[in-house]
Amino acid sequence: MTSSVHAAWSTLGSACPQSCPQRQGISSREPRVPALLEIHMPSFCAICEVPITAANDTAEHVIPQSIGGRRTVSGFICRSCNSEAGSTWDSELFHQHHWFTVMLGIKRQRGPAPDIRIEALEGVTYAVSSAGAMTHAAPLVKRSEDGKSFQIRARDLDEAKQLVRQIHKRHPTFDVADVLSGIEFSSAPADTVMKTSFGFGGDLAGRSMVKTVMALAYSLGLPPASCDLALRYLRGDPSVEPSLAEHLVSDLIVDRPARIFNCVSVLGDSRTRRLVGYVEYFGICRWVIHLSTSYDGPDVRDTYCLDAISGEGMDLDVNLALSNEEFQASMDNLTSDEQQRAATFHAIMPLVMARRTELGREALVDHAITAATTAMGLSAGSPLDDFQLKEFSGRVARYLAENLVFRGRGNAPWNQKIPG
Ligand SMILES: [Zn+2]
Repeated sequence: MTSSVHAAWSTLGSACPQSCPQRQGISSREPRVPALLEIHMPSFCAICEVPITAANDTAEHVIPQSIGGRRTVSGFICRSCNSEAGSTWDSELFHQHHWFTVMLGIKRQRGPAPDIRIEALEGVTYAVSSAGAMTHAAPLVKRSEDGKSFQIRARDLDEAKQLVRQIHKRHPTFDVADVLSGIEFSSAPADTVMKTSFGFGGDLAGRSMVKTVMALAYSLGLPPASCDLALRYLRGDPSVEPSLAEHLVSDLIVDRPARIFNCVSVLGDSRTRRLVGYVEYFGICRWVIHLSTSYDGPDVRDTYCLDAISGEGMDLDVNLALSNEEFQASMDNLTSDEQQRAATFHAIMPLVMARRTELGREALVDHAITAATTAMGLSAGSPLDDFQLKEFSGRVARYLAENLVFRGRGNAPWNQKIPG
C-alpha cells in the first residue's frame, strides 16, 4: 500500500532533501511512515489558516493519543487549534470511547485512562480500572446500631488505614493496631447486571475523525485545500453537510483480523476525482469520511493502523474503492442502521470481554500477592526463609484457587446493554 503511494509521488519528483526541516516534524517512532512525508510544502494551519512557524508549530496526533494514537504530524495545524481541537473534538471522541480504553487496558503514551464508573442495577456504583481491577466506587464507613463497632469498606490498604485513623481521631479508645492487623482482602465477581450505554458520532467527535483523516492525507503530502468538503465542515461552514457517515452496511476491512485495532485510511482516486477516508476505532466505530468530490491530485492510498491494546503498528488492507452507488449512499448517510449497529456490537464484544478476563486474572494475581504480603507482615524485598516461603505460596495459591474457581462458574463479570 505504502509503495503505491510512494510511486505516485515519485513521478512528481517532489521529494525534499534529507536536511528538510519538514522531515523533523514526523515522529521517529513510526517505521511505516511512507517516503511521501518528505515532501516539502509551505505550511498554513489547516483550520485557521495562520502561517505555521517554529513558534506555533505543534505535533498533532493523527489518531488522538487519548485513545492510544502514537504517530504525530507537524506543520498541519497551529498550537492554538491543536489545543482547542484537543479540548473539544478529541475530548468528546475520548469520552465516547473511554469505556473501551479502560476495558481493554490500552497503553497510552501519557499513562492509563482514568477509571470508569459503572452503575449496577441495584444502584451500587463500581470503579473499573485499566489495570483490570473493579472496586466499589466509594469507601464506606458504617457504625453498628449499638455504636460499638464499625464496618469499613475500602478500595485498598492505604484507604483502609486512612479510614481507621479517622475513626481513631473521633474515638481514641479505638485500637488502630488491632484493627489493621485484622484487615482482610476479599474479591468476588459482581454477580449483577451493569448498566452501560454507548453513543458515537455527533459534530464534535465527527470533526475529530475528519481531522484524523486530513492529518493522514497531509502526511502524504496532500495540502489541506485538497480536502475541500472536509475543510468547510471542520471550519463550521453552516451550508455544508457533515462530511462523514457511519459505515456498517459492509465491512471495508479486507480479511478483518481477529484483533481490536484503531485505523485511519485514505484513498485519492484521480479517475473518480474522489478523495475518501475511513476511520475505525475499537471495531465498533466505523466511519467513511468524504474529503473531496473534485480531487485533482495524484492517486494516493495509505492506511495507518495500530493494535489498540499494545499500540504496535499493524498491516491492514482497507477497501475504500467504493462503487458510485456505495459512495452516494454514504454521502446520503444511508450506510448504517440499528440492526447493523447491534450486529457490530455483538461481533466485537467477545474480543473485548476476553481481554477483560485476561486483565482481571492479572489483577487477581497482584491482589493475591498483596493479600499474602499484608497478612504475613512482609515488606517488599525482604528475604523469606523456607517456612515463610511455604506459607506465602500457600496463601497465594489458596486465594487464586478460591477466586478463580468461583469465577469459573460462568458468572460473567457484567453484562452490557445493546446500544441504542
Ligand atoms: Zn490554527
